[in-house]
Amino acid sequence: MAALSNPISDAKRLVLLGSTGSIGTQALEVAEKLGCPVVALTAHSRVETMEEQVRRFRPRLAVMVEEKAAADLRVRLADTPVRVEAGVDGLCEAACLEGADLVLNSVVGMVGLRPTLAALEAGRDVALANKETLVAGGALVMEAAARQGARLLPVDSEHSAIFQCLQGAPPENRALRRLILTASGGPFFGKSREELKRVGLQEALKHPNWSMGAKITIDSATMMNKGLELIEARWLFDVPPENIDIIIHRESVVHSLIEYDDHSVIAQLGVPDMRLPIQYALTWPMRRPSPVKALHLTEWGKLTFFPPDDEAFPCIGICREAVTRGGLYPAAVNAANEEAVALFRKERIGFLDIGELVGAMLERPFPGAGRGIPSLEEILAADREVRRYTAEAAQRLAR
Ligand code: NDP
Ligand code: MG
Repeated sequence: MAALSNPISDAKRLVLLGSTGSIGTQALEVAEKLGCPVVALTAHSRVETMEEQVRRFRPRLAVMVEEKAAADLRVRLADTPVRVEAGVDGLCEAACLEGADLVLNSVVGMVGLRPTLAALEAGRDVALANKETLVAGGALVMEAAARQGARLLPVDSEHSAIFQCLQGAPPENRALRRLILTASGGPFFGKSREELKRVGLQEALKHPNWSMGAKITIDSATMMNKGLELIEARWLFDVPPENIDIIIHRESVVHSLIEYDDHSVIAQLGVPDMRLPIQYALTWPMRRPSPVKALHLTEWGKLTFFPPDDEAFPCIGICREAVTRGGLYPAAVNAANEEAVALFRKERIGFLDIGELVGAMLERPFPGAGRGIPSLEEILAADREVRRYTAEAAQRLAR
């Protein structure tokens, strides 16, 4: 086991956006074991956790997006040489900091889009946990990565699985027929729409297999998470949405699969532990020993697979339609979802209202794919407008 803490000779110097979150703290653990130096850390407002992380990892730059938190952190770190910055501009500055090899983006929400673009424009490789980046700005992000010759390395477990399955496929002729994303089904698997009328916040926050941040936990309960992942996969792997299937797999052991033209299906398996996909994004194309438990299939006995229930969980179908239309539709469903989840977490709306508010975006006129790649300004404007609209629509629902 001693090898685990030996620094690897090609250890990447990391910028970690969203370091205080569920993915962020696990990424720091992985980075420490691999011996990867950390050059910048960012968070929103959790100052105490950030102070501890800075003292432990000694980055050059620490960013708190909330101004008051940044001022507080500056005072706390006055005895250190660490520079403290604030705001989304600070986040973007961290994303393109000189001397970094890889930016791991694990902030939550489409606020991650600007720093992802900033990193790619600076030619940095990006390990992406922040799926909302690709949902809101997929075409823009992929274009920037291709133009700058920068890599996007997936951290989301399903996309890491597909990325792993694709290793060895010749890029010029992948002969790829289908992607099959697995979904745990969340805490409400098997419930009817009628039963879902009565579920509340605390039940939605109890995920059966994963311990994650609150927003993605709610997204898993509504299955919106899988809809967002379908859009994420469409961009990461350049596969049309009709060739991306979703299946429910309750045990979260098969992390996703691909089917080649000859109908051979390749899957990636492992115990459910995010430290594995995080580590692969940090060591790719190499593999290293990891603290993640080994998978013993006989301990699981059987693995189960089911089709999703589109009536009880409409969000996957809504996302599929949004990405098929293209243009600003994916950004719109993402913004409606972020706003609706925030309202549900404040218990201002019911569980089923989330899908209603997200689905309402398909009734509204946004430019589709025919109008070319939406610019960052258009995406940010649509995001603001949809949040306002959704907050008002939610008030009407609450009455
Ligand atoms: P958390 O809520 O646990 O952490 C979010 C991080 O982002 C924190 O560091 C938080 O700072 C920061 N943050 C929150 N709001 C803002 C903001 N407005 N501006 C800048 N930073 C902000 O989320 P997770 O770690 O669970 O998820 C992060 C991303 O990774 C999400 O996109 C999620 O979908 C994705 N993901 C997560 C998985 C998981 O297992 N958790 C699995 C696969 C994907 P602070 O602590 O100060 O609030
Ligand atoms: Mg996932």
